[in-house]
Amino acid sequence: MPRDTPAGPVRGRVRLSDAGSRDALQLIAEGVTDVAHFGVAAISVVREDGKLEVVAVAGSDVARSQLEGSRTPVDRLAGEIAKADDWGLLRFVPHERLEPDAGDEWGWVPDIEPIDAPDAWHPLDLLIAPLYDDNGVLRGTLAMDVPADGRRPGEEQRALLNMYAEQAGRAVVVALEREALAEQVRMAQAARRIVRRATAQLSLERIAADSRDALLEGFRAAGMWIHTFARGAEGLGHIYSSNPTEVALTPDLVKIAESTAQAAWRSQQVVIVASNVEDDESLDPAERAAVLSFLRGIDVESLLFIPLGAGPECLGNLVLTRLPGAPEWTETEAAAALDIGHDLGRAILNARTFEREHQLVVELQELDTYKGQLIATVAHELKNPLSSVLGHLEMLESARDLAGTTRGSLAAMERGAQRMVKVIDDLLLLSKVGDPDNPVIPTPVDLSHVLDEVIDLVELSAQQKRLDLKVEVPDGPVLALGDADELDRLCANLISNAVKYTPEGGSVTVAIDVVDGDVVFTCRDEGIGMSAEDVARLGTEFFRSSNPLALAQPGTGLGLAIVRRIVERHGGSMDIESDLGHGSTFRVHLPAA
Ligand code: ADP
Repeated sequence: MPRDTPAGPVRGRVRLSDAGSRDALQLIAEGVTDVAHFGVAAISVVREDGKLEVVAVAGSDVARSQLEGSRTPVDRLAGEIAKADDWGLLRFVPHERLEPDAGDEWGWVPDIEPIDAPDAWHPLDLLIAPLYDDNGVLRGTLAMDVPADGRRPGEEQRALLNMYAEQAGRAVVVALEREALAEQVRMAQAARRIVRRATAQLSLERIAADSRDALLEGFRAAGMWIHTFARGAEGLGHIYSSNPTEVALTPDLVKIAESTAQAAWRSQQVVIVASNVEDDESLDPAERAAVLSFLRGIDVESLLFIPLGAGPECLGNLVLTRLPGAPEWTETEAAAALDIGHDLGRAILNARTFEREHQLVVELQELDTYKGQLIATVAHELKNPLSSVLGHLEMLESARDLAGTTRGSLAAMERGAQRMVKVIDDLLLLSKVGDPDNPVIPTPVDLSHVLDEVIDLVELSAQQKRLDLKVEVPDGPVLALGDADELDRLCANLISNAVKYTPEGGSVTVAIDVVDGDVVFTCRDEGIGMSAEDVARLGTEFFRSSNPLALAQPGTGLGLAIVRRIVERHGGSMDIESDLGHGSTFRVHLPAA
């Protein structure tokens, strides 16, 4: 029996992760006990730490409970084998060859008395088959003890045992390979989960940083980089590398990476580049040589090249590298890496969309600023000549000897000029309240006082239209925080619209309230109302409804644009309810003083 199992802990039954492999090894061990007539048989496998671990025991429950899961250093086995008789695949060490001071307790020594015969089996005899793979590497052992007839095996029994040793050798290699494969799948899947989580972010910088460790560990890689391709003529794209040192690709290498990634994405394959891997036509010989020489320059033995993309579009590549001496890339890893290529591809697309939108917002803001400046300049330039026109009109009108027709013309010219003044004033105000460099300097403003003044101004037109104009204001001042002139314009624009867009005999109600610490100004009318589409566009400069009833009233489409900006710059909010043909309600919340 493998005697050298020093105090290996017994850790239950499960040793090999793959149940099929475990069963195969157990069957072989049982063959040795049942068919080759041994009391105990045990199969061990070599672990990465250089220890033999017992994974299958047949014949004796006592032996099983002691041996299974126990570990022996491989070196000790080598020491024993050196003294052994060569029985084909088997090695036999008779107990008398053991060093008397071998000292250590064997893991399991059968409690038997040797029979009285020259070929009697001794409890300390060792019969073991070291199991090698095709490369001559020790992968495990098959050991047996307690022959049923109490004798050391003869020719016939040895032949049978050799057959089992051969089977065990194959089974152990398969079992270890399957186990390694399962481990790879597990690690690659764990890496994918982490990468997926990382791709919820919009910055590729962060995604690369957060995925790095998982990728390196999950794929047993030494280094990695993500290369996103340039769009149009924007240069060489961007490389997010795992190392603090930048990965510097020459333009030639970038070109090779791009064309290889495109082709790999089309065929949904990864590409392995290593000096010992046959060229698989993913690269032409010159390209392959260029890549290999680059790899030698950065001390890398091989790389797994994964295309990144979304839909039909290839957007970049992921490269995982291994150093000399590392294992070769496997199919399992290639498949898992390709999945990650899809995850990262979508992330690149998201990041690009976000970047594009952000850029668009910046451009729109610039355009808006330009528009504001244009409006302000034009309005200013028109204002002075218009004042002069109005002054001269006034002078002409005061002349006594004017014919009736001339006087009529002058009056018409003055009305037109006054309307122009109104538009220009609105434009100037619009650009003022839209200028972020000219913020509100807030002071307490009594809104009920503001309202009184506005009502004074609109009362006449309301009376002319026989409107029922109701004002609901609490007693005493209602203090909002803001700019008095702007709040005056806000109320005036909303109330004059209500009066303007309410047909004769209708009613308009204005009210002020304090709700949850906000000052709320409400302007409700029973006028022509608006469609939902119109409401959605309110506040856009120069917007006027296409409703003929609205267009019949004079207007510029600037009033609500001014209101919207005043509300915004006061940190307030406005909601509008309107029902076409039945009326509208504008409700403005302003911070209270
Ligand atoms: P203007 O009244 O000078 O046209 P505004 O910016 O004040 O410009 O209003 C924009 C448009 O919104 C108006 O042309 C009108 O179609 C609609 N509107 C505004 N207020 C009301 C209201 N109280 N009732 C119905 N329509 C309104």
